[in-house]
Amino acid sequence: MAALQTVAVLEGLPAIRGWQEALYCDLHEHPELSHQEAETSRKVAERLRHSGFEVHDGIGGTGVVGVLRNGSGPTVLLRADMDALPVRESTGLSYSSAVQAIDADGAEVPVMHACGHDVHVAALLGAADLLAAGAGHWQGTLVALFQPAEETADGARSMVDDGLQDLLPPVDVALAQHVLAMPAGHIGTRSGPVLSAADSVRVIVYGRGAHGSMPQASVDPVVLAAMIVIRLQAIVSREVAPGESAVLTVGSIAAGSKSNVIPDRAVLQMNLRTYSEQTRATMISAIRRIVAAECQASGSPRDPEFEFFDRFPLTDNDDATTTRVHEAFTTHFGDRCQELPQQSASEDFSDIPAALGVPYTYWGLGGVDPATYQDAVARGRVDQDIPVNHSPNFAPVLQPTLDAGTEALVVAALAWLA
Ligand code: ZN
Ligand code: ZN
Repeated sequence: MAALQTVAVLEGLPAIRGWQEALYCDLHEHPELSHQEAETSRKVAERLRHSGFEVHDGIGGTGVVGVLRNGSGPTVLLRADMDALPVRESTGLSYSSAVQAIDADGAEVPVMHACGHDVHVAALLGAADLLAAGAGHWQGTLVALFQPAEETADGARSMVDDGLQDLLPPVDVALAQHVLAMPAGHIGTRSGPVLSAADSVRVIVYGRGAHGSMPQASVDPVVLAAMIVIRLQAIVSREVAPGESAVLTVGSIAAGSKSNVIPDRAVLQMNLRTYSEQTRATMISAIRRIVAAECQASGSPRDPEFEFFDRFPLTDNDDATTTRVHEAFTTHFGDRCQELPQQSASEDFSDIPAALGVPYTYWGLGGVDPATYQDAVARGRVDQDIPVNHSPNFAPVLQPTLDAGTEALVVAALAWLA
């Protein structure tokens, strides 16, 4: 039944391609940094109103929610993220970004949709329009949610904290997608943990400064920091169970300014990725323990300081919800729907279903020209030659990426609403 209604709703797709592709190129050419998505938000609200949605904007800053009530039935929430990254685009596309903006620290930075959130916005606006125009083929309530600031991990939370729940009827299920370096036109679903939880930690360790020629008068924080970096490597290899995946990267280490001065502190910034709450807790406590013990071993004069930031929740797809979506995708996409490998990237989408207390699933959408992808596979060069998200060369092919992203949202929503 749902399949017939899906076909009927998707009959409108050729008619929206014109404005949808133009809108995508416009978004790509005019990206906005996290929490600065004012123009994107305005374009989204305008398009939703045009499609007949009740629109709430300015939620958690620039967040937008469109609600379409269409009789009794379940409520499905579809989510897209809107922000771009401080990356200088080098795709060479005719609709490349030349935008510069001022970031949260006051620095002027180039801006690019290097994560494909412009695909998510255009696909969701297209799906929302198709479902509104095809409202005779389904019943229930559709919520189209556009969140700010996914890249800084706090956009979903900002909408929740701004009273998102009060704007919505009780939601039954939440769905979201991300364009990835897979063949365009393909979809990947996965039950259980699909994206990692991420935590960033800034650690300050203290020493005692002295002349570089008189180390006996110092507690050298550079040596201390070096010991910490080495000792931290044993967490994943010795303290995490072999069947569990985890990553710990020390991405930044800073101390001192001159060759003959022993500084009085060192700052380490590290990032960890985990797929279970237990492993996450194990790793955080191991980091605290090792840093404290190394400070003690060095005779550090002050306790170390820990600051946690950019924390992303685990994305743990609900089994029943994922199965329902996967079956609908298989009916529609055939063998273009596959299992998505577990991803080491992270997302804050799940903060929304967690706050609403509803199940969710999150799937991957291909964005790479299929011939280019096959060529890279044949040469064994996929990881080297296919630009991934956040790369200055990340450039999803316009089609069939946009069509597939739009179809996926319609198909998944109708698995509840048809
Ligand atoms: Zn990203
Ligand atoms: Zn992203």
